[in-house]
Amino acid sequence: MLQPLIYDIGEPGRVGVNLPKCDVPKVELPAALMRAELALPEVGEVQVVRHFVKLSKLNYSIDQGLYPLGSCTMKYNPKINEDAARLPGFAQLHPLTDECGSQGALFLMHELQTWLGEISGFDAVSLTPAAGAQGEFAGILMIRQYHIDRGEGQRDLILVPNSAHGTNPATVTMAGMRVHELPSNNQGNVDMDALQVACAGELRDRIAGMMITVPSTLGLFESTIVDVIATVQDAGGLMYMDGANMNALMGVVKPGELGFDVMHYNLHKTFSTPHGGGGPGSGAVGVNAKLAPYLPGPIVAIVEEGNADASEGGRHDMSPLQDARTDDEDVGATNLAARAPLYGFVMPEKSIGRLKAFHGNFGMHLRAYAYIRVYGDSGIRDVTRYAVLNANYLRAKLMKSYKAPYPRYCGHEFVLEGHFADVNDVHALDISKRLMDYGFHPPTNYFPLIVPEALLIEPTETETKADLDEFVAAMEAIAEEARDDPELLRQAPHTAPVRRLDEVRAAKELVLCCAPARPA
Ligand SMILES: *Cc1c(COP(=O)(O)O)cnc(C)c1O
Repeated sequence: MLQPLIYDIGEPGRVGVNLPKCDVPKVELPAALMRAELALPEVGEVQVVRHFVKLSKLNYSIDQGLYPLGSCTMKYNPKINEDAARLPGFAQLHPLTDECGSQGALFLMHELQTWLGEISGFDAVSLTPAAGAQGEFAGILMIRQYHIDRGEGQRDLILVPNSAHGTNPATVTMAGMRVHELPSNNQGNVDMDALQVACAGELRDRIAGMMITVPSTLGLFESTIVDVIATVQDAGGLMYMDGANMNALMGVVKPGELGFDVMHYNLHKTFSTPHGGGGPGSGAVGVNAKLAPYLPGPIVAIVEEGNADASEGGRHDMSPLQDARTDDEDVGATNLAARAPLYGFVMPEKSIGRLKAFHGNFGMHLRAYAYIRVYGDSGIRDVTRYAVLNANYLRAKLMKSYKAPYPRYCGHEFVLEGHFADVNDVHALDISKRLMDYGFHPPTNYFPLIVPEALLIEPTETETKADLDEFVAAMEAIAEEARDDPELLRQAPHTAPVRRLDEVRAAKELVLCCAPARPA
């Protein structure tokens, strides 16, 4: 059923604004820019507000309920992040402001670089990549340049397990390297025999490195990860960790300490930022000392040390957010006693270059900074612990009514098979569409590719037990319906504003016009 469009409820002469009397001389507008026909709706304020509120309700969002879209970490986004990102001093700071006029922003970016390094066990971090996939691209370009500089430019192979996120092989190809795919064993781990063969055989001198997601896209922690890292590094390769799943590790495991050389973070997943729908993201990259000179730039550095009094401000601990305001006397006193360090942008010595205009998506840096600052170190650890606990709770409950292809403890997400041995022709898609009728966003469908009818479920840490139990109840009810009335699933959703779409057409032929042609 189509909602009435704002055009249908308008009437000639109806207005929603009171403009003040014109107090400047009237001038003719340039005729070339004027359109004779511009069918703008004529509506009052009430109609406009109702129109937009109606539109907003057509979309499901994390502020409405559970959003278990595996791989995407759709956690609740704390509103304080949004307040921070809208502070005028940050939001209105022009990217061309000189360093003298942007010390606050530079300080914040420097802190964030330092904290991300601390969380992941890496020596240096660049915030410039605009998304996870761009962080990956940066990582592989760094690995490539590292080998070229050592006279080993023939190393052109990147090992990629078949459980990898789709961006991984795409990244390798875009960076001018070749993918060498590795199979997974029946536990969902990388097949060590296949890895040994690749690293010991005739390909040994061509191995540039390996890209691996930990925990994997199956939601499983690679139990042999230390051996995997040693095997690849022994063959002269570097290890790239896809860190999009840091929500299962942060505060508990540091990838740098495991031996990884480079990793990207998805700040818009793990460290919260509204995402989905292609909004801006941030795919910061962390590296060890070997790759630090190659980081994409610019990165923020202290270009002139402050004196001791200034750096004793206690700002470098990860304590809960404190009121940063000081009264005037304090500011005066601080200025006399102490000189803060001077922050500036630098290009790392052998940088692979720039990936993005200016300094990356600063609004996302602000949100991640606020997020980490509010949680502090023990809070960050709790985020991970609850994310893993919630996923394992759901998995244990749902394994009774759905097949779990890898029945072992998971990280922050897990895979089920969305079909039933005793029901014909009910698929993961039908289950997902039916979930919408129960008021839930569906999980990720048909990914990872190596599981038939995959449903990848990630509850995140921000859901209560009661929320999780409601989801379990819906999934169980759907498993029963599949047996009693499978057609109900095949025809779902029944309550959504639109039924099943031609998804390819909907994505490729987006209708963005505010007055689409309506069926007669
Ligand atoms: C989301 C994701 C990516 C890609 O991140 P984008 O920000 O969407 O480019 C890469 N790897 C994994 C495992 C992911 O979940």
